Amino acid sequence: MTQELHLLPIGKSDPDMMGWLRQELIELFRVPCRILEPGLDPQFSYHPERDQYHSSEILARMQEYVTARSWRVLGITPVDLYIPILTFVFGEAQMGGPCSVVSSYRLRQEFYGLPSDRDLLGRRLLTEAVHELGHTLQLTHCDDYNCVMAASHAVEWIDLKDFLFCSQCARCARAHAQF
Ligand SMILES: [Zn+2]
Ligand SMILES: [Zn+2]
Repeated sequence: MTQELHLLPIGKSDPDMMGWLRQELIELFRVPCRILEPGLDPQFSYHPERDQYHSSEILARMQEYVTARSWRVLGITPVDLYIPILTFVFGEAQMGGPCSVVSSYRLRQEFYGLPSDRDLLGRRLLTEAVHELGHTLQLTHCDDYNCVMAASHAVEWIDLKDFLFCSQCARCARAHAQF
């Protein structure tokens, strides 16, 4: 059976952005990619005292979407994610797979009081998507600041790095899962 990368909209989705992301990920990972519909309502993971959504609870729920067909399941959400020890996270992944989730909330220029920039948002979303998929392929953070697996705790750091694996990370990722 051919395995596919499954994109799961979590909450309100932007069909144009999802379609673009799908195409980019097909080219990068050389796997078929499908957008799952309908998506998942993230309300169950909402914590009013923080006014944010707990990404680990979302990852746990995403297991229901994993089938024999799934190469990886990547959730895409516009809501603000957190884990209890951090103020926020851009995304979270299960080390070694299969599920990961990324948020566009803090990738939008509007969040920082700047005019909307869809190209920049797309590039940031792609970078974070590849980063979290990297974790599902058992990659840890990379010291090469150009590498997509470099840690990023602020959006400026995302803009500094590439959306590609460095040669060493690419080798490790390929060894773990064929692409
Ligand atoms: Zn990371
Ligand atoms: Zn690397």
